[in-house]
Amino acid sequence: MLSEKGMIGMGNGVARHDTKTAENAARRAVEAARIVQPEWAGRTVAERAVALERAAKRMLRDRQSLLHLVKEEMGKHEVEGLFTEALGPLDAVKAWKKIVGKAQSRRVLLNPIAFPKKHARIAMVPRGVVGIIAPWNFPVSGLYRSVVPALLTGNAIVLKPSEYTPRSSAWFADHFAREVPHGVVNVVQGDGAVGAQVVESGIDACVFTGSINAGKKVRVKCAELGIPSSVEMGGKDAAIVLGDCDLERTVMGITHWTLANAGQSCGGIEVAYVEERIADRFVEALGRAWSKLRTGPGDDDVEVSPLGNDHQLSVVEAHVKDALAKGAKLVTGGKKTSGRGYMPTILDNCTAEMDVVREETFGPVLAIVRVWGTEQAVRAINASKYGLGASIWSKDVARAERLVDKLDVGVATINTHQFTGAVPQLPWSGTKQTGFGVANSELSLLTYMHPKTIAIDEAPSEPFFMPFDRTLRDLGEALVKAQLGDLLGAAKLPLLLRRRAKRLREFFKG
Ligand code: NAD
Repeated sequence: MLSEKGMIGMGNGVARHDTKTAENAARRAVEAARIVQPEWAGRTVAERAVALERAAKRMLRDRQSLLHLVKEEMGKHEVEGLFTEALGPLDAVKAWKKIVGKAQSRRVLLNPIAFPKKHARIAMVPRGVVGIIAPWNFPVSGLYRSVVPALLTGNAIVLKPSEYTPRSSAWFADHFAREVPHGVVNVVQGDGAVGAQVVESGIDACVFTGSINAGKKVRVKCAELGIPSSVEMGGKDAAIVLGDCDLERTVMGITHWTLANAGQSCGGIEVAYVEERIADRFVEALGRAWSKLRTGPGDDDVEVSPLGNDHQLSVVEAHVKDALAKGAKLVTGGKKTSGRGYMPTILDNCTAEMDVVREETFGPVLAIVRVWGTEQAVRAINASKYGLGASIWSKDVARAERLVDKLDVGVATINTHQFTGAVPQLPWSGTKQTGFGVANSELSLLTYMHPKTIAIDEAPSEPFFMPFDRTLRDLGEALVKAQLGDLLGAAKLPLLLRRRAKRLREFFKG
């Protein structure tokens, strides 16, 4: 079922729905997926990968249509879209093929003395139909880490893209849908109410990425339904800028990892805790660079794309206003340009009471909090309700590594930030309210597969089988003594085992 069939009507680029239709669309999608999933699961990982690689190559060739769509739906400029949305699908499929390939069924060697003539293996079984509920900020590349492993592990999927970017995400899903059996890839469009319908439509596992508010509801509902879920929610990443950092490189890195995707990344830097001894020079250099950055809609040769939707723009404006009202100093930016463009904004002298320090802003804004030492920065980061990522910027990598150990976050980086979100081999996860869902790496695969233990016994009988009597007690006592190193007790074991075997044969003789 391709996206158009699950589509519930569009207006202004936002998919709309009526609840009854949405419910039906979600259920129909799950039914279609369930019928075909065993056939898909019956293929090998390599066979599934061939189909997905074909789709990924076509995506690379069709990139221009995607870049137009992403620009139309969320305003992302094409140069940025080329790097963040269009370049990655083939690499993602190839990397996941290796990760999933290693996580397939395997034999487990059992101790032949403790478990004579027994064999065991672990079969990794696809969950069945995986529901994937997605946000809008990376409408294509944000799906690699769920759609690709879900399909490669042999599941069928029902994807519910964000209502803000329905066509970009459907573009991605449709490329896969063309290469796999009909019904393996399904798309149901609509808003949060439709997402809730997908959760309750009979799926076997759920992957949610989005805000804390919606994610908690999804997690609770999945727990009630008894289905596994991986729920990844918001972030408020911080950078700790130490006095001994390489200033020029730090300014470059923090500029990019704050403003990439117009700051609309779960793992974008939103706060910089800067050691007082370097703060003036850091703020001045950052301000100088940011005032040269170009923003807003229109020409693609700008660095900061417009915000993805009106709601996001209003959050950014409210946070900046709140910070200024509470005493922050505007270094640069602080205003809208045309359309949904917002100038890259630095706010100095920020404090923990400001929304721009406490809540997710998700825009091109950096709050500078000046600190007198690293302890103050670590305490502030650990006190945040979010726990996705944090970075330390210093020339002294050994010292930075010691600091990393103290940070209560899921992703910690030194002299860089957030790039690991696009690396399939590295877990992308959080702590606290960001959630404990794991994306990427083999550690995420239990969302898509469950282990089934298969054990085979070829021994004629077991000494501990019924009946229970003196012969079994003597054997048990000898086993205890053998474990405690009593050689005399251990020496009796062969005789006691023979006695037990004889006793069992006599007892069960017809
Ligand atoms: P959102 O929570 O508003 O929406 C995300 C998705 O959930 C959408 O498809 C939406 O329709 C759906 N949804 C909303 N309510 C639902 C409900 N009750 N039941 C089921 N589905 C529901 O988030 P958003 O604004 O689209 O995305 C931005 C947020 O996503 C930010 O907080 C960002 O930090 C977060 N995010 C997190 C990660 C991560 O890896 N931790 C990655 C990307 C984005």
